[in-house]
Amino acid sequence: MPPTRHVLQCLENTLLPIESDRSPTTPPGPLTKRPPMIAQPQPRFQPAAWQQALADAVSNPLELLRMLEVDPMEAGIRPLLGSAFRQRVPRSFVARMRKGDPGDPLLRQVLPLAAEDEVTPGYLTDPVGDLNAEAVPGVLHKYSGRVLFIATGACAVHCRYCFRRHFPYGDSHAATDRWTQALAYLSGDTSITEVILSGGDPLSLTDARLAELSARLDAIPHLRRLRLHTRLPVVLPERVDESLTGWLAASRLKPVIVIHANHCNEIDAAVGMAMRRLRDAGVMLLNQSVLLKGVNDDVVALAGLSEALIDNGVLPYYLHQLDPVQGAAHFAVSDATARRLVTALRDRLPGYLVPRLVREIPGAPAKQPLERAG
Ligand SMILES: *Cc1c(COP(=O)(O)O)cnc(C)c1O
Ligand code: SF4
Repeated sequence: MPPTRHVLQCLENTLLPIESDRSPTTPPGPLTKRPPMIAQPQPRFQPAAWQQALADAVSNPLELLRMLEVDPMEAGIRPLLGSAFRQRVPRSFVARMRKGDPGDPLLRQVLPLAAEDEVTPGYLTDPVGDLNAEAVPGVLHKYSGRVLFIATGACAVHCRYCFRRHFPYGDSHAATDRWTQALAYLSGDTSITEVILSGGDPLSLTDARLAELSARLDAIPHLRRLRLHTRLPVVLPERVDESLTGWLAASRLKPVIVIHANHCNEIDAAVGMAMRRLRDAGVMLLNQSVLLKGVNDDVVALAGLSEALIDNGVLPYYLHQLDPVQGAAHFAVSDATARRLVTALRDRLPGYLVPRLVREIPGAPAKQPLERAG
């Protein structure tokens, strides 16, 4: 792909009108899955705009390709129709893809391909040893001072490279009835200062539940920070509404949100607005990407992403080498290429715009840097 294409795309995207920032007065669309109703007399039930958009996600690969005017036969791609890890992509994210381009970097992240069914040696269903790190159901305690709280198994988008695509969420996520056990674990270990809400995507939970969880975490005196790892503000920026910023700003804990953007084309004006709302609520914003072949494995794409992030007040944090999860081998970039890319990035950008290149190694005490000193 000619390198200049990414740059041009980034510039175009910053000029896009905000189309997904629907006002709450928009009449409700069809909703396939309603949140449980409470048996209280309620004047009328009005799902949030983001919940409607979530329910309206594109789940059929052929429909997605039709929307993008890509003929799978002509493009030589074989979509995987019956994957257990179904396609799921919000329409506002589809709107950021280029029409007629089967190699679009956003499309590649979400389109299930027949290549996922190939079994690759060394690629596992639990590549980072999550199942061994469970302290209590839904709580992963691998590193000093911080724990991962698997708040839900649901996501707004299904990323084909996801290292948790085989994770048995049904058994493990800290559902409300299990919160008690998880919270007891956090209360009992005074070395824990930071709770990281993860999943799945923690922002696919309702704000009512998140506010309740946040209040219960607030009450644990040794906690200082609440971190969220989420892709929702990027793939569905209308998720960042007043209800979300309300409970975030009300918390005693310092909020940190790590958004997961992999390419500058993901960051349009609506995402920029969402970032502004989060910053205004006092949230520290970081980004983590995964290095993905055919998506962001060139220096212009990575530099464009860092620039687009900082334009919106987001600091690049990690660039992850792909976890070797079964079904994602076609995204792998070699360590030598990864190091070369980050060196080239360092030659171009201010130091604070160069993310740390890391890999997760099961059993290690932290994410492992891939770059050698000196
Ligand atoms: C990645 C991860 C963290 C966070 O690591 P940081 O280096 O602090 O970003 C925490 N806990 C678990 C289990 C993780 O996998
Ligand atoms: S949003 Fe995160 S957890 Fe969900 S599918 Fe994508 S990478 Fe996986």
